[in-house]
Amino acid sequence: MSAPLTINVLELTRRAGTLKDIEVSLPVADFAFGDDRIVATREIDVELHIESVQGGLVVQGETACSTTMLCRRCLREVSADIQVAIDEIYRSVPDNPDAYVLEGEQLDLMPMVRETVLLGLPDAPLCKPDCPGLCPQCGADMQSDPCQCQAQRTDERWSVLDQLRGQLGD
Ligand SMILES: [Zn+2]
Ligand SMILES: [Zn+2]
Repeated sequence: MSAPLTINVLELTRRAGTLKDIEVSLPVADFAFGDDRIVATREIDVELHIESVQGGLVVQGETACSTTMLCRRCLREVSADIQVAIDEIYRSVPDNPDAYVLEGEQLDLMPMVRETVLLGLPDAPLCKPDCPGLCPQCGADMQSDPCQCQAQRTDERWSVLDQLRGQLGD
């Protein structure tokens, strides 16, 4: 497998100000996400502008993908175009906790890009903001197929109150 996100560090850091651009579309399988939020993403576009600076590399750019996720409440498929900006720094001597470590002759940017894509995914995708979800009792889709459980439960609650009232009345 080729490694389109692996760059030659020696070449780039020989002189500060050296630039390198990467523009690729990678099959989602390359990322091995193992995240059930992504159901049907085919490719992820990655655009990176790399600049060598004193003691490190600055990597800026963007990842973009069209994906299908499952609504957290009703499990309907939800399509989304997700774009996430990249603005990272790699340093041979990291001077802040956000900096990635720059070591060796070859640098694989894949882990950083992978993390960026994951961070860009919504934690709880919804098919619509007020999706009523599935009935916790019978599993019916309350958006298209409302069931009677909720009404029953309200009745039960009232009957409990009636019982309490009866006991208090004694
Ligand atoms: Zn939903
Ligand atoms: Zn129900």
